[in-house]
Amino acid sequence: MTRRPCLVCRRVFMVTKVCKSRCEGCQRTYDQARYAARDAHRPSPRERGYDSRHRALREERRQRIEAGEPCFCWRCGLPITKDMTWALGHVRDDRNGVRHPEHVNPCNSRTLEPGRITEAKWRAAKARRANPR
Ligand SMILES: [Zn+2]
Ligand SMILES: [Zn+2]
Repeated sequence: MTRRPCLVCRRVFMVTKVCKSRCEGCQRTYDQARYAARDAHRPSPRERGYDSRHRALREERRQRIEAGEPCFCWRCGLPITKDMTWALGHVRDDRNGVRHPEHVNPCNSRTLEPGRITEAKWRAAKARRANPR
């Protein structure tokens, strides 16, 4: 059994798997703060677009794509067909929160890089879509 003084409150405590450098109480406080910080950076399910409205929109769009309605990826401007994997993307700069279909690969993977998607890019994709070669 190892005993050592807590980093925070200096009280001597028994070292366990969970409590290595802080006593039980301080460890709990520390973990809570850490989780809170992590959650603060993580968008809520609503912001991530997985609310019921999003699901309904996606289902509606899926049916239209399945039916053969032309659909274009807002990121690259290329067509999305029913045999492709796509998602309803969240246009970062779209203040209305409108969601647009996009290819999961490679287009959607860029979502992970903050700030990559700008309104200018979106407009360029839109222009390309309006004037296909
Ligand atoms: Zn402590
Ligand atoms: Zn695309």
